[in-house]
Amino acid sequence: MRKYNFCSGPAALPEPVLLRAQEELLDWEGRGCSVMEVSHRSPEFEAVAARAEQDLRDLLAIPDNYKVLFLQGGATAQFSAVPWNLLGAGQKKIDFIHSGQWAKKAMEEAGRYGEVNIVASSEDRNFSYAPAADSWQQSEDAAYFHYVPNETIGGVEFGYVPEVSCPLVADMSSSILSQPIPVENFGVVFAGAQKNIGPSGIAVAIVRDDLLDRALPDIPRSLSWKVAADAHSMDNTPPTFAWYLSGLVFQWLKEQGGVSAMAELSWRKSALLYDFVDRSDFYSSPVAEGSRSRMNIPFVLADERLDKQFLQESEAAGLLNLKGHRSVGGMRASLYNAVPVEAVEALVNFMADFEKRVG
Ligand code: PMP
Repeated sequence: MRKYNFCSGPAALPEPVLLRAQEELLDWEGRGCSVMEVSHRSPEFEAVAARAEQDLRDLLAIPDNYKVLFLQGGATAQFSAVPWNLLGAGQKKIDFIHSGQWAKKAMEEAGRYGEVNIVASSEDRNFSYAPAADSWQQSEDAAYFHYVPNETIGGVEFGYVPEVSCPLVADMSSSILSQPIPVENFGVVFAGAQKNIGPSGIAVAIVRDDLLDRALPDIPRSLSWKVAADAHSMDNTPPTFAWYLSGLVFQWLKEQGGVSAMAELSWRKSALLYDFVDRSDFYSSPVAEGSRSRMNIPFVLADERLDKQFLQESEAAGLLNLKGHRSVGGMRASLYNAVPVEAVEALVNFMADFEKRVG
């Protein structure tokens, strides 16, 4: 019996995708073996890879002058790869918005190779809002501008795409495929898979092709987007099963109506939870209105001594993984694409009942 899973990642996957993978596991396409047991260079796996890329291109309307790369090392390898790939043209400054934990980690990494300029920060209010664009102090000569459109831990989402005069780099790990995005406004979009794309073990980078020749000369080949692009993401053995499963998720997303349908659903699901929390005196949201994430929704109980009981009882009620990140405490419900509306309804009903009983 599958339960409702609110994990922030690795997160819930669509049930039809898991069923299809299960069905195909022992005997994939009548070949007498699983997809994990064929060469990544075989025509049959190349077809899987090509279809996954095309489906992702269709879903996000990715223009032809962008490469779509399937890579290893997660989003962490990607935010480490960004300075290596973009600091080779002589500019050393990197503009950052400091919006929380994932901006911070990427900034620390970038600071090892370039000069970080914090354009704006929300640290003054514990990263509970997205800094307004009119307060930003951009550099004149930045190599690129890095931001995290959705901070997975803080539950803060930018409701707009920054307008900048250098390549815009976005870590979309926790919001990719949840709404249409103007890819042409970005230099680079990257994301770890384990939220809205597929299982962990693979990451996607969408890179404008004129940015492929800006790498630092000593770049490790495993981090080089150019090497990956030239080899169609197969310079070395890729995580074939994760790639295949991500491809099944893309097919499922298309059947659901694509990212516009996901956007509408995400507004409905998140509004259900925010409206309930806002009406309650027992629960509250630490995130400023206007910056609230549709994907990751932290909330706190009026008395934190009840946290443990809340978690025990919610789990017993079939609502999994509601514990907030260790660095912030409280609760967090992640409502990625594969989490159905019914899961949010069940969560809100449980929360109302809990409040009535112990609040
Ligand atoms: N960036 C964001 C926004 C994330 O949410 C995460 C993971 N939760 C990461 C980066 C790191 O991803 P990975 O574990 O794949 O390296």
